Amino acid sequence: MDTQKIYSQLLSQFPDIEIYQNHPLAPYTTVKIGGPADIFIYTKNSKDFTEILKYLYGKDNVFSARKPLKPFYEGASTSKNSLPGEIPIIILGNGSNILISDTGIRGIVFKNSSNKIEILPNNQIKVDSGVQLPQLINFSLDHGLVGLEEFAYIPSSVGGAVFGNIHGFDKHDFNQFLDSIEIFDLITNELMSYRANKLKWSYDYSSLQGQRNLIVVSATLNLHPGDTKAAKQKYQDIIGKKITNQSMKSLGCVFKNPLESVCLPIWGEKKGAGWIIDNELNLKGTSIGDAQISPLHANFILNNGHSTATDYLKLINLVQSQMQTKYNFQFELEIKLFGKF
Ligand SMILES: Cc1cc2nc3c(=O)[nH]c(=O)nc-3n(C[C@H](O)[C@H](O)[C@H](O)COP(=O)(O)OP(=O)(O)OC[C@H]3O[C@@H](n4cnc5c(N)ncnc54)[C@H](O)[C@@H]3O)c2cc1C
Repeated sequence: MDTQKIYSQLLSQFPDIEIYQNHPLAPYTTVKIGGPADIFIYTKNSKDFTEILKYLYGKDNVFSARKPLKPFYEGASTSKNSLPGEIPIIILGNGSNILISDTGIRGIVFKNSSNKIEILPNNQIKVDSGVQLPQLINFSLDHGLVGLEEFAYIPSSVGGAVFGNIHGFDKHDFNQFLDSIEIFDLITNELMSYRANKLKWSYDYSSLQGQRNLIVVSATLNLHPGDTKAAKQKYQDIIGKKITNQSMKSLGCVFKNPLESVCLPIWGEKKGAGWIIDNELNLKGTSIGDAQISPLHANFILNNGHSTATDYLKLINLVQSQMQTKYNFQFELEIKLFGKF
């Protein structure tokens, strides 16, 4: 089964869904970098999103796995263009945390733009995974519910926020607001509801990251009523602060901050990756092609025009090799690499 055949079958099966072949991915990322996807599927509601996943991975269809699937792992790639029973897929949220290689992705990429939000009893909100975080925050504040404003200026989808368990301005992790998650399992081909407390969470980590067959379809959040005027002010204040040194032409922080146990013997206190890159490596502002370590925040790498993923990665490697030489350790990546590098 080659991708041309899969594409034709999908088109005839789902004539109302946007499905493209050899489609550029850069526009779907905040940093505007990345080559094309073999097949690109753009869904606008959860029904289409899950129906098409079911069709691709269900037992009774033409692409049936009949053996364990091999969902696509970040950093990995497949050189195969023939994909019988193991169609690699990637779910794109808002592309604000992934560096896609210049050669793109061999497989199927979903852009999930499902966008339903509903208010439930007991101060809960149910939200589709394709909803943008600012939309969710504004919705909650408009309904008298507070708490999410600390996630201001994060260009994430809800699916990306759950998958990555993002951290907010007040150091809360996103899972602290989660009641349950609706997940489509590519292996069982079923939509399941999981209590959030049954999954594992920590800083920037959800157990979904180890089980790439689990696709987030929606989330139900626990919020509380509060002073929405103060919360809206706080939301604006955080944006005001972040906008001074963060850029949307980036992927957010490229490196995770090193653990205290790593920092203490060297600096006597915990230091952020940005501080280290700036003060210890003196790399703030360094450019390779149009990729630049931000002159305002050294843990951000910007695309100043037409940066390639190759140049972006060269800057990452420059930081890593200097850390290795000077301190004998390397930062862990906060961003994910998709495709072949
Ligand atoms: C200016 C800026 C500021 C930022 N500030 C912060 C910050 O304060 N805190 C923070 O934690 N992060 C921050 N980030 C990083 C980024 O926004 C988050 O990591 C975000 O959650 C990524 O979500 P996304 O929707 O863009 O996902 P993507 O980047 O598209 O994808 C990230 C991962 O999530 C997976 N994924 C997406 N949707 C689903 C789904 N429905 N089901 C399963 N997997 C899915 C993807 O496959 C991929 O592995 C910032 C980024 C920028 C550019």
